Amino acid sequence: MTTYLWTPPPVAALAVQGNAARLPVNRLFFVGRNYHAHAREMGVTIDKTTARPFYFTKSPAHLLASGAVLPYPPQTHDFHHEVELVAVLGRGGFGVAAEQAHELIYGYAVGLDMTRRDVQQRLRDKSHPWCLGKDVEGSAVCGAVRPMPGTVLTGGEIALEVNGVVRQRADLGDLIWNLRELIADLSQFYHLQPGDVIYTGTPEGVGPVQPGDRLHGRVQGVGEVALTLGPVRQPTGVDPAPRAASAVLPGRLAALDYLGRMLSLAERRGSTVTVMVVAIDDVAGDRTHDATDAERLIAQRLASRLRTHELLAHWEPGQFLVVLPDADTASALVLASDLRQCAAAAEATGPSPQPRSVSIGLHSRRPTPDQDLRELAAEMVVAAQRVLEVTQANGPGRIEIEP
Ligand code: MN
Repeated sequence: MTTYLWTPPPVAALAVQGNAARLPVNRLFFVGRNYHAHAREMGVTIDKTTARPFYFTKSPAHLLASGAVLPYPPQTHDFHHEVELVAVLGRGGFGVAAEQAHELIYGYAVGLDMTRRDVQQRLRDKSHPWCLGKDVEGSAVCGAVRPMPGTVLTGGEIALEVNGVVRQRADLGDLIWNLRELIADLSQFYHLQPGDVIYTGTPEGVGPVQPGDRLHGRVQGVGEVALTLGPVRQPTGVDPAPRAASAVLPGRLAALDYLGRMLSLAERRGSTVTVMVVAIDDVAGDRTHDATDAERLIAQRLASRLRTHELLAHWEPGQFLVVLPDADTASALVLASDLRQCAAAAEATGPSPQPRSVSIGLHSRRPTPDQDLRELAAEMVVAAQRVLEVTQANGPGRIEIEP
């Protein structure tokens, strides 16, 4: 098993319509100037007979789920909306012909390519890279992916409303380079992979947003995307040191630190964090002594079932805490059930003959910008423990959720 100096970040992933499984994201590509009217409003005309599409990228860490609140970013006074059709690849390819490009498409989503326009234009005028204008934290907003394998969208309305007022409206038929051409062109430069995501460019009508604005984008036949702008974030200085990866099961304080860090990440991504308390019930007599062997066995089995970015910590005698960043309730429930079976199996081979049951309490929350994350982390643990108390009263081997 690979070891890391500290806990690796969660896998960047997108929600999928009608499927509890999430789509793991590889890279984020963005097409620049792909509608004539938008190119004109940026002061450029495109002659397709001589031009080729151009691209920029954003870090997958900057993905933000639809419905999130994004703090107004630092270092800009002109933060712009760009609504875009997002194509998601389910197969890879290198040097793909346009006629075969549809085979790479898994589905589509509606996205927002949020942009520091003032910074972008300043960089552009100096022929500098656009990164600081485009690769903004939380600026790759994306709704749930609608699976449409092999489908090339050639038309349909794309629109964006800010506070209920239409700001952008066009048709996918107005794309300068269509999806076949984009995939074929991009695959000349990159070995395209499943999970590569292409934001296909924005139509005309881009403009500034302010804290408190509510954005709502949609593409006919694909879905929707929503975003609220939050207040400017004040500087906070140096973060606490990351939890060191260790063979030793971390304890309460390390777990709270890690949970605070995951909540901060989740807030920027608009994703949910789940805390699971796993308790060995009915540990009779001297709880600390009696629990030790059973705990060790259960911990070994629990740890091997978790992904590298999920955390298993010792909470107190007879109790473990599992932190699942980026977990939806459905997948957390599957894991909970799985863990309970592991724990029961560990129980059966354990040194103590006395029967015990294992209970699991789950609590999921999506943090908001106005919350003190350490306080929220503590609340989540307390909520999961409260669920366990109810569970113990209800009988052995139960899983319960507090929403
Ligand atoms: Mn764009």
